[in-house]
Amino acid sequence: MKLTKPLLIDSPPEKWNFEDLPSYRVSQIQQWVFEKGTLHFEEMSNLPANLRQRLQEEYDLNPMEIAREQGSVDTTQKFLWKLRDHQFIESVLIPATEGTKGVRASRLTLCVSTQVGCALGCKFCASGLDGLKRNLSTGEILGQIILARKKAGRRIDNLVFMGMGEPLANLPALLPALDQILSPDGLGIGARHITLSTSGLVPKILELANYPAQIRLAISLHGGDDETRRKIMPINDRYPMDELLKACEKFIEMRKKMITLEYILIKDINDDVRQAKLLAEHARRLNAKVNLIPYNKVEGLEWERPSQEKILAFKKTVAEGNPPRVTLRMEKGHDIDAACGQLRLRETKSEEPSTS
Ligand code: SAH
Ligand code: SF4
Repeated sequence: MKLTKPLLIDSPPEKWNFEDLPSYRVSQIQQWVFEKGTLHFEEMSNLPANLRQRLQEEYDLNPMEIAREQGSVDTTQKFLWKLRDHQFIESVLIPATEGTKGVRASRLTLCVSTQVGCALGCKFCASGLDGLKRNLSTGEILGQIILARKKAGRRIDNLVFMGMGEPLANLPALLPALDQILSPDGLGIGARHITLSTSGLVPKILELANYPAQIRLAISLHGGDDETRRKIMPINDRYPMDELLKACEKFIEMRKKMITLEYILIKDINDDVRQAKLLAEHARRLNAKVNLIPYNKVEGLEWERPSQEKILAFKKTVAEGNPPRVTLRMEKGHDIDAACGQLRLRETKSEEPSTS
């Protein structure tokens, strides 16, 4: 499908150089988009009608329409978006009650996608099953946050780039999106509330270490040694564990910031005592937190979640190895396909002829 109009939010407001437009008009549009979450020029009531019309003729503002919604604001809520070229992506809103020192607050986390599909083909993951269709643009990354915030009717506190795709494989679109996310005139979300998750693109981890803001980094480890990791993650052949751990060390050294090692638990694949001990060793060496995630079943794939006893025993063994912290995340959205990529998979299967 040929898109004729550029998407306005693909470029930063400083580049919205509509010929004769005074800068206060640019600020007004910026406020509508980022503060009020308006993605329709005709709703920008303080702009003159002829300007609204001109903008509408020259630009698209809304990167996507909602195609499906599951769950509710009180639980996990999942959005399937249809992009302008009829590709599908997903975002998931996850509420959590957090708090320290007796102060409890309800926080909203949005899980954001960065690509349509994924090229890295981890064998357990729904997002990579059909390979990579394309990268998301800056505006398509921002659009997910603006629209999900509108749907939620409240501020989004945390962002995790753990939706479809490999964020570090799309840094040219992601970094400008992050600039707008962090900017007080943009979405105003602080760097320590933003986590990028990567399956281990070593050179890109080092590139990210040079990004000025202190974004959090999570590494999808999923195995304690090369032999285990390569069974489920083909990327491990390109960047073996030793290189990955060295890149993590470098990142930590440059950023002076803790990272998280994510570890999904898959029955009979990576859930044995030896892997738990190795994981604890890596975490101790990197002074990294460990986040254990029981595998979410993907339709059509053979992998299973271990039993609850096995999960708890794994956690106990890791904890005995004394890493700084071990958490066990029980997926809230287990019942609504919260593992990213699954809704889209179903949608593209049922709409195959019209989407190709
Ligand atoms: N590509 C990046 C970020 C997106 S995936 C990465 O791999 O890190 C985000 C996380 O979800 C990763 O840790 C990934 O391994 C995990 N994941 C993928 N499919 C899953 C499933 N079915 N159940 C549980 N976690 C899954
Ligand atoms: Fe891609 Fe991450 Fe899925 Fe692996 S787990 S296929 S890197 S989205």
